[in-house]
Amino acid sequence: MARHTITLIPGDGVGPEVSEAARRVIDATAVDIDWEVHDAGLGVMEQYGDPLPPHVLESIRRNRVAIKGPLTTPVGTGIRSVNVALRRELDLYALLRPCKSYPGVRSRYDNIDLVVVRENTEDLYAGIEFAEGDPGTLELIDDIERLGGRKIRSDAGISIKPISIFGTQRVFRFGFEWAEANGRHKVTAVHKANIMKHTDGLWLRTAREVSKEFPRIEFEDRIVDNMAMQLVQKPEMYDVMVMPNLYGDILSDLCAGLTGGLGLAPGANIGDEVALFEATHGSAPKYAGLNKANPMAMMLSGVLMLRHIGEAAAGDRLEQAIARVIAEGRSVTYDMKPERDDPTAVGTSQVADAVIEALGTPPNRGPEI
Ligand code: NAD
Repeated sequence: MARHTITLIPGDGVGPEVSEAARRVIDATAVDIDWEVHDAGLGVMEQYGDPLPPHVLESIRRNRVAIKGPLTTPVGTGIRSVNVALRRELDLYALLRPCKSYPGVRSRYDNIDLVVVRENTEDLYAGIEFAEGDPGTLELIDDIERLGGRKIRSDAGISIKPISIFGTQRVFRFGFEWAEANGRHKVTAVHKANIMKHTDGLWLRTAREVSKEFPRIEFEDRIVDNMAMQLVQKPEMYDVMVMPNLYGDILSDLCAGLTGGLGLAPGANIGDEVALFEATHGSAPKYAGLNKANPMAMMLSGVLMLRHIGEAAAGDRLEQAIARVIAEGRSVTYDMKPERDDPTAVGTSQVADAVIEALGTPPNRGPEI
């Protein structure tokens, strides 16, 4: 029997190509994995009448670990986002996004090693919205005026921002535990508590309480606008940053931009029962089927997954092999070349070939990483 059984959702757009590349390099580490492959998304709508059929969720719940390629969310069709549904159904409350510089990547910064932990279930992303002009919205506007003494214009739409003690405690505990387990020294709580006292204020108060449980890890906080500026000016000052959903969405892209862009940004959605690994990027439909997309974000998500399942040595070897291919600069996709139309850029599957070759190379034969 395989040591690990893992659900693999190839995704759509460039998903199947980057997923296959990631699966090949993970298998090349010789970790014994039995892949349970299930499709989800628009492609299965006709067959199952649901972009996220129950058997896919059952497979993930049973195996407790899954890796997925990106899935397209069509705009304006009423079809639900499978990416959001997965996080909600499986209560994947922490989204971990490491952003790290690898030598050889064209970027304005060197030596960046930041980790964003984004709360994944609450805040303005909770999906509690009231459309402009709806009778329910007008009733809510009246109630808010009656209860809060503040007038909202009658032609306003409203999105609700819930932030709970429960939700904040668990994501900070995850952030501190991850920092301890991964040799990190500092956690920064990001907020706008000076303005939103009952949501971000609660977030900050709760963070301070949780920080007392982890005396070995330094704790500080930053107001989100200042955080954005400091990340650009002196990113080396930061380590693990824990943020509410919306700030995490925006600042994790900023951090990806500091370190080479979406083609290199991995991610992990973590809950108490299940972990789901996926790249930060989307399905990049214009490159679908062209063997052009960069598979490294998906491969680095695989590195996080290997560490999560207790195969840290294999995860480290895979990360070093990817870093070696980046440093050599030959077998990389168009987005990592100095010019986007560089004819020496290779395709998705050739990057996998190069990483597999690098995995077999003794460490002293590659460039220093
Ligand atoms: P995107 O990430 O697909 O593309 C943004 C830009 O980055 C495009 O220029 C694209 O070509 C490029 N790009 C993305 N991944 C790349 C890769 N691996 N290699 C090289 N270039 C790459 O974002 P988008 O265009 O906003 O979204 C497209 C679709 O993906 C939408 O339907 C969206 O809902 C979905 N999406 C899914 C996820 C997910 O599955 N978690 C995340 C984000 C977006």
